[in-house]
Amino acid sequence: MSSTSSQHKRTSEDSTSQLLSHLQGWTGPALLPLSDLKGSVIDVFLPGLWVTLHVICINTFVLRTLQSRGSGRQVNLTEFTRTLASQLAVDSSVAVPVLPQLNSCSYQETRLANASKQRTNTSSSAQVMANDKHISAVKLQTRWNRPGVCGLDNSGNSCYLNVVLQCLCSTVPLVEHLLNQDTRRDLAKSKCRFAEVFVRLLEEMWLGRSSSCAPLEARSVLSSILPQFNNYCQQDAQELLLFLLNTLHDDLKKTCSSTRQLRPEQNRNCAADFTIVSHLFEGQLSYKTLCMHCDHQAHSKQAFTVLSLPIPTDIIKCSIQDCLSLFFEQTILTGGEQMLCSVCGLRRETVVLTSLDKPPEILLLHLKRWNQVKLRTNVGFSMKLDLTPFLSSSAQNASYSSYHLYAVVNHTGHLNMGHYTALCHNAPAQVWHCFDDSIVREVQDRVVQSPNAYMLLYSCKPFQKPKIQGL
Ligand SMILES: [Zn+2]
Repeated sequence: MSSTSSQHKRTSEDSTSQLLSHLQGWTGPALLPLSDLKGSVIDVFLPGLWVTLHVICINTFVLRTLQSRGSGRQVNLTEFTRTLASQLAVDSSVAVPVLPQLNSCSYQETRLANASKQRTNTSSSAQVMANDKHISAVKLQTRWNRPGVCGLDNSGNSCYLNVVLQCLCSTVPLVEHLLNQDTRRDLAKSKCRFAEVFVRLLEEMWLGRSSSCAPLEARSVLSSILPQFNNYCQQDAQELLLFLLNTLHDDLKKTCSSTRQLRPEQNRNCAADFTIVSHLFEGQLSYKTLCMHCDHQAHSKQAFTVLSLPIPTDIIKCSIQDCLSLFFEQTILTGGEQMLCSVCGLRRETVVLTSLDKPPEILLLHLKRWNQVKLRTNVGFSMKLDLTPFLSSSAQNASYSSYHLYAVVNHTGHLNMGHYTALCHNAPAQVWHCFDDSIVREVQDRVVQSPNAYMLLYSCKPFQKPKIQGL
């Protein structure tokens, strides 16, 4: 009995000293090698535990490197985690160091932030090292201090949400308006859940210091308002963008009316259905119909937020101008589509001419790639877009000849098993970034011309550095 007990005790002590040596000697987290994972029972059955243990280890490392330096021995992260796991399995009294709160900033930032926090408690010999850390922390912050450039964590198939949020985050006039103090005050007075959460996220993306953050609150509020997005399935980014703009528009309308009720004299410009969303994104199409029997002409208008463009079929390459031409092409309605002519009093074959009556300030173009199968046509586009060939006679204006591309949503893969990334132009830095969920990288202009483009966002005017308080 006693020998078994002491043997167990000795084994336990050995493991503890082994664990401690790992803790002290481990010099940095390594990416989990996939080869180490194969055949491991714990990974097959307890992936959640495995991830948790790695998080614990990264945090432990953060503390241990600060507390015990100089051993210099390399300890593999996987080995380290296994040791900790086995130790916890035989002896639950093993103290796991108190974990610093893991926030959404990168590992390196967590480490450096902790380094600067600890600086005040370090001895004089460690002071030099801490100062070095502080210097690199400053360097890192300088590197990441790029307002409006912030990756978004994927919370489970949420790349479609992330790209939409990135596109809106780089829409400077929208950001400027929403982060304005007056707007924020008005939002706080009204009960606009989504707008408030969205503004908080924009604030983090523009004024925060992290290289990425988690849009969990936005996702949760969005799911409660729009139940169709309350799941972990891949969704259509274009559909979401429309829903999101509508939700924001409805929220801001509430603000507008409530403000008008409160201070009617100060809000004469606050039209019932007018918000920053409609001001920026809403355009108008004009339809001219012609009865092919009696030549009677009729006109109608329709507001739009997104232009969903057909892609010419049977070719592998075309241009965005080709898609626009196809959209605005003259069509003849025949058979069941015939329109009722008010002069003939009968349904007649009708010619329909579509034109752009009021181009929006921000033009959202959606390429209709879903046609039972995905159309993989390479649609070429450039940084500038000329809309003048599609304008109605009343809208002819030179200012629409040069729209500026500022965001592209790319889709790779299939309809239900694809991945979205966004390319957005950052106005303050005047550079493009590729956003792949939380991974952000600066890219050359030429990379923007992607064959996987699914949505293109153009602005009538090039964006300037936004005027945001605190920027
Ligand atoms: Zn007619």
